Amino acid sequence: MTPTWQVGSLSSSPQLNSMIIRILNSSRRDYRNFMPRLQLELPTIQNWNCHNCSGCCKQHGIFITEEEKERIESQNWAASNEIPDNMETVVTERNLIGKKKYRLAQQEDGSCVFLDEQGLCRIHGKFGEKAKPLACRIYPYAFHPKGNGIAVSLRFSCPSVTQNLGKSITRQNKEVREIAELVVPEGRKQSAAPKLTNKVQLTWEETLDIVNALDESLADEQTPVALKLLRTYFWIDLIQKTNFKNIRGERLRELLNLLTTAAPEEVPTIPEPHPPSKVALMQFRLLAGQYARKDTFASMDTSAGGRMKQLKSATQLSSGTGLLPKLHPDLNEVPFEALEGTFGKLSEESEELFTRYLRVKIQGMHFCGPAYYNINLIDGLHALMLVFPATMWIARWRAVTQARSKIIAEDVREALEIVDHQHGYSPVLGTWGSRKRVTTMVQMGDLQNLIVWYQR
Ligand code: SF4
Repeated sequence: MTPTWQVGSLSSSPQLNSMIIRILNSSRRDYRNFMPRLQLELPTIQNWNCHNCSGCCKQHGIFITEEEKERIESQNWAASNEIPDNMETVVTERNLIGKKKYRLAQQEDGSCVFLDEQGLCRIHGKFGEKAKPLACRIYPYAFHPKGNGIAVSLRFSCPSVTQNLGKSITRQNKEVREIAELVVPEGRKQSAAPKLTNKVQLTWEETLDIVNALDESLADEQTPVALKLLRTYFWIDLIQKTNFKNIRGERLRELLNLLTTAAPEEVPTIPEPHPPSKVALMQFRLLAGQYARKDTFASMDTSAGGRMKQLKSATQLSSGTGLLPKLHPDLNEVPFEALEGTFGKLSEESEELFTRYLRVKIQGMHFCGPAYYNINLIDGLHALMLVFPATMWIARWRAVTQARSKIIAEDVREALEIVDHQHGYSPVLGTWGSRKRVTTMVQMGDLQNLIVWYQR
């Protein structure tokens, strides 16, 4: 059975949040005395510390357990007059089968009810860090099974993560372990590795050989990220076509070595860009539009009018003519065609950001299996690769919004924060339709075209 504890932290996805709630509801304190010490694998290339930007408190719905609800109620906020407009602090909702679930209330702008005017958490300020809901304490970390151990990944929706601010994560083993021990359930058992394809199940050892080869393929800092993605696509496509009846264990390692060595010779440079087909662009706009959509619980309009608006924006995205719909406060209604020109070479800073992003997600098993809608490794990798053109498309949108014809590092950084807020967490991206969209683009050869088209 798929374990549930690996999904990290705050989520705008009700499904993932309910998974988190189940985890939080399970007893998790006492097992430390008898459970073997967790084997944590920390990202080797990432720094992070919280810089109190309060971004996470403004854009996520925070689901809490009954125990946390009671704790918050016992803090007696109603009598304190500190909560804006004396709002209720906890909202009770029901899921599809009528089961109660609890979420922290949100202010009109989507901020958590406990966020004060200075951008600080009232619970933290009054009762200390440990009094906050666990979801707030986990973010931006995410924990996923990796062989015998637990891989630690991070969410790039946090600006301190994208900017690589703070201490190296490898030097924060103690702090990260403390959080991991709160999240990983008692008596956990090693789960099977994510499938390679829907038909092929490899061992953890073999899966990790592929994961390590992916990480190495993306590591070279002198090669543009677009070229690294094209080379990775070249060899993973051949791995996908391999007959695994005979190629296992050592022979798989030899094959990986052969293919990754051949990739730079087979794909020496980034090919000339060609405009992607109309169908590819339509599929891609619908995907990238989903990433760009700003959905917080407070801002989500579920009324008939709100649904009409969503339908209208989906129609606009499919047609690709006229103006882009208003999907995000930082992105204006500019002409679609304005995003299709040449926007200049990626800065060194953006190259470094994409490389770090891809490697953190791969090292952290944050792209397939339970961390990504339970899909297989190859499909998850393709979805991760599409993050590159989707981010570049949104970065262009931001540049055009600000009347620029070239993108700057800040466009890319902010676009990646927008995209990674949704990647693996938006319920829509996990639907059959969205996943089919990704496989169709890959099968039609559009993934490489889109990478080449939007890197220029
Ligand atoms: S409880 Fe505190 S840390 Fe959690 S979202 Fe609200 S303000 Fe932020």
